[in-house]
Amino acid sequence: MSFSQIIGHQKQIETLRAAVANQRLHHAYLFLGPEGVGKRTIAIALAKLVHCSEGHHDFCGQCANCARITAGHHPDVHFIEPLAGKKEISIQQIREIEKDLNFRAFSRGRKIAIIDPATQMNLSAQNALLKTLEEPPQDSLLILIAGNGGALLPTLRSRCLSISFAPLPRQVLSRFLMEDKGMNAEAADLLASMALGSVRAASEIDSEALRERRRNWIDLLAGIGLNGYRTAMEAAEVLAANKDEAQAFLKWAETWYRDVLVYNVTQAADDLVNRDMLMPIRELSAGANAQHITSWINEIVETNRSIQRNLNRRMVLERLFLNLAEAH
Ligand SMILES: [Zn+2]
Repeated sequence: MSFSQIIGHQKQIETLRAAVANQRLHHAYLFLGPEGVGKRTIAIALAKLVHCSEGHHDFCGQCANCARITAGHHPDVHFIEPLAGKKEISIQQIREIEKDLNFRAFSRGRKIAIIDPATQMNLSAQNALLKTLEEPPQDSLLILIAGNGGALLPTLRSRCLSISFAPLPRQVLSRFLMEDKGMNAEAADLLASMALGSVRAASEIDSEALRERRRNWIDLLAGIGLNGYRTAMEAAEVLAANKDEAQAFLKWAETWYRDVLVYNVTQAADDLVNRDMLMPIRELSAGANAQHITSWINEIVETNRSIQRNLNRRMVLERLFLNLAEAH
């Protein structure tokens, strides 16, 4: 692998390559952006660029240094994440990494630590890291990876150089799925739309299973609209049984009603996520106005937040479905 095989984020990659070439690499970076867009891939690529024994302004992916980094066994490149069975990154882990960063590098490059996800550091771990950042060990490079910086101490954020990674454009993902995964244009397009800018999601989703799942979800919403109260309660019970499934459904339902809203306003199908399902989208759009659709979307987003905060799933889903049943 080399930089040319990384999908998207050309500007961010060029900034980092130029910093290495000009020996102006900062001692701490904060990579911010939604899950699965390639932040960790680029952090690892940067570590390889620093340590590769073959590449010039790029990494080869083949030499002993590159191979060790891929395997997670390079003596100068450390990954810090919650230990097995733990949710948080502890202060002990941060103290150990500080010790490691203060040793001389085994190879010519810098000592590198990649903290992913940095938001899993508890407060004392963040405070310990802050001390390290105030007096960074010589020739060290810290890369913090986070979905958003909100859960990190402002003082910690301000000591890092932030680089933002946006969701990948649909066309970029679609091209990747056709060229690298050998998909046909139609399947690639649907999958790229449903992956919401995440290359990881696009790589992991099985497009046949996805269609099937979506078909069930569309039927579920249609059933609530037709049969009202009883179906709404049953649907809430089934979905509430599994948190991941409930959240996946709500994430999708948000795109579904956004499609209805976009179609309602533009009467055009080009930008719809579920473009191949134009018929039901058109029907829903015809029976509602933009204000109503917006309120459904807000309610779906709010329900997902409540589930995220571990409120009673069945209760919040029931409330959402009953409101949707009344609206349809
Ligand atoms: Zn190499």
